[in-house]
Amino acid sequence: NVRTEYPDKKVDSVCPYCGVGCQLTYNIKDDKLLYVDGKNGPANENRLCVKGRFGFDYVHNPQRITKPMIRKEGVPKIPHEFIDPMNPWTHFREATWDEALDKAAQGFLKIREQNGPKGLAGFGSAKCSNEEAYLFQKLVRTGFGTNNVDHCTRLCHASSVAALLEGVGSAAVSATFNEVKNSDVIIVIGSNPTENHPVAATFFKQAAKRGAKLIIMDPRGTAMKRHAWKLMQFKNGTDVAMLNAMLNVIVEENLYDKQYVQTYTEGFPAFAEHVKQFTPEEMEPICGIDADTLREVARTFARAENAIIFWGMGVSQHTHGTDNARCLIALSLITGQIGRPGTGLHPLRGQNNVQGASDAGLIPMFFPDYKSVEDPATRGAYEAKWGIQLDPKRGLTVVEIMDAIHADTIKGMYIMGENPAMSDPDLNHAREALAHLEHLVVQDIFLTETAVYADVVLPSSAWPEKDGTVTNTNRQVQMGRKALPLPGDAKEDWWITIELAKRMGLNWTYAHPRDVYPEMASMMPALDNISWERVERENAVTYPSDAPDKPGRDVVFDKGFPRPGGFGKLVAAKLTPPDETPDHDFPFILTTGRQLEHWHTGSMTRRATVLDAIEPTAIAAVSRGTIAKLGIRPGDMIRVSTRRGTVDLQSRQDDAVPDGVVFIPFAYVEAAANLLTNPALDPFGKIPEFKYCAAKVEAIPMR
Ligand code: SF4
Repeated sequence: NVRTEYPDKKVDSVCPYCGVGCQLTYNIKDDKLLYVDGKNGPANENRLCVKGRFGFDYVHNPQRITKPMIRKEGVPKIPHEFIDPMNPWTHFREATWDEALDKAAQGFLKIREQNGPKGLAGFGSAKCSNEEAYLFQKLVRTGFGTNNVDHCTRLCHASSVAALLEGVGSAAVSATFNEVKNSDVIIVIGSNPTENHPVAATFFKQAAKRGAKLIIMDPRGTAMKRHAWKLMQFKNGTDVAMLNAMLNVIVEENLYDKQYVQTYTEGFPAFAEHVKQFTPEEMEPICGIDADTLREVARTFARAENAIIFWGMGVSQHTHGTDNARCLIALSLITGQIGRPGTGLHPLRGQNNVQGASDAGLIPMFFPDYKSVEDPATRGAYEAKWGIQLDPKRGLTVVEIMDAIHADTIKGMYIMGENPAMSDPDLNHAREALAHLEHLVVQDIFLTETAVYADVVLPSSAWPEKDGTVTNTNRQVQMGRKALPLPGDAKEDWWITIELAKRMGLNWTYAHPRDVYPEMASMMPALDNISWERVERENAVTYPSDAPDKPGRDVVFDKGFPRPGGFGKLVAAKLTPPDETPDHDFPFILTTGRQLEHWHTGSMTRRATVLDAIEPTAIAAVSRGTIAKLGIRPGDMIRVSTRRGTVDLQSRQDDAVPDGVVFIPFAYVEAAANLLTNPALDPFGKIPEFKYCAAKVEAIPMR
């Protein structure tokens, strides 16, 4: 462990992985990243997790795409095909940038001509910068002529966003996670922050150590339970039953904050009437939490000085994800636990820039700043700004786009940095759709499982190879700085999108992200008083900020909500079962998610030496009881099947997993969890039910 090489350059930036947004310093020698140090950013205070510290050598991986590539004439697109990333020349030929960009743009123009704008769609990426997200959605809206633009937010917090916009008029968090320092009660529900937001988890643990009551609500007993005052291991998919029972107690026992409810909310009488039916005794057999605990936790939350709620995909990735989030919003609103230090609502955002990409309009129903594309006045303002007539109808979402390809409605796609051939539910369906496209342009750093279906592959930039801003889960806009040269002929993502736009007839003259930022910020009041130069100078600025020389606000909604009348809206949630429940043939519940060491579809972390060495193998986590029932030993291979597919992987005994449940991380192409998942959607957020479907688990006999 003795360091033999020393850096000749240090560059400050932001971690490219999760939404915590840790600031860091790259230490570089001869244009190679040697190591990374944590920096004193507002979200991390010098801390980094294993991904932020050891997850960077993917940038130097020999599998990086370094030349534009065009699919060879006559080579068919076959679903589930594997291409050796070191030898893509069986399927592709090398091209110049001019040839590849011309071919990409001409393919889009031809489809627009023959099928109209609705024949095209685009997936941008929450791993790119705010400026790149802004440019991408602008290209799809003004160049393609459609609102068919989306990104991975559809697969993570779309239902939370739907509920938050409806309930409190804003999709962002009401308080930074660092506010736990002022909380005496902390709920963490449907989230495993130790693995998914590790640095945020350290703040939660410190708060618990200081004496705050940490309440963990999760069907899997996560690692945070060691620090918890209460662990509520409720039955999978019964969030609404458990939360409505708590709301029932707060209303029936008059524990709600009458003055707050009267001043800052609407809909209370109907809401109170609705929750009457959900008594703790009636909900106990449904959610599996005893009535006394439901009462005790409800009382503790309502009586707290300052209580805050954090949630993750366990809440959002359900067909009733929006209802789950509505209950959490109601819990905060009726108790007045919002708008003060140490209180509030915080959906822990997944990707490093999923907040910023959504803010910048990379979603099919909203222009930047969540302005509806269907509102004529808003659309008129954007038409005036962009100088072009815009599509008056909301576009299709991620899963709907795959269905539209199968229906031959969508013929061409531009995908920047997303990997739907691994991240979408029901991968057989998604991969068949991608293979069916007439024209697919993929812009990425590796030949991903999606790029193998491309007609044109455009080699792009890893995060340390470009400048740009990103916005973390805390609403902190931070500066990412170029630290490394691009490999071979690869280009920055923003440059590629601009060149495509020019070839589609758009008169774009931006020469750097700093030219894009002012235009984007001019359409986003959230960025008032936050200039590019200020972010560059201060490294991080929280929005909203009241003046160029004043820090941004960590806590918002101190005087009501950005909704009509300033009222938060109470919305009743019904009990809705998951779309597919266990039965005789498929008696288990499958739930999916991430691991500490691997990021999403694994395209970066499985090419990071240390991370891949720690977790090299596809696993399925099952309970001790399941291991015994299957008659196997931990580590033996098992087969997990659903109505959509089958994967073989190594069993891992995990005492956090209840009997009858199997958990599979979705990073492993050799046993892709999403071959199994259910594409059924939440009707409001259009998010698939990744957290619940019926499955079969079998031992694989030893040969
Ligand atoms: Fe990166 Fe998230 Fe880890 Fe921080 S907590 S180092 S942002 S992965």
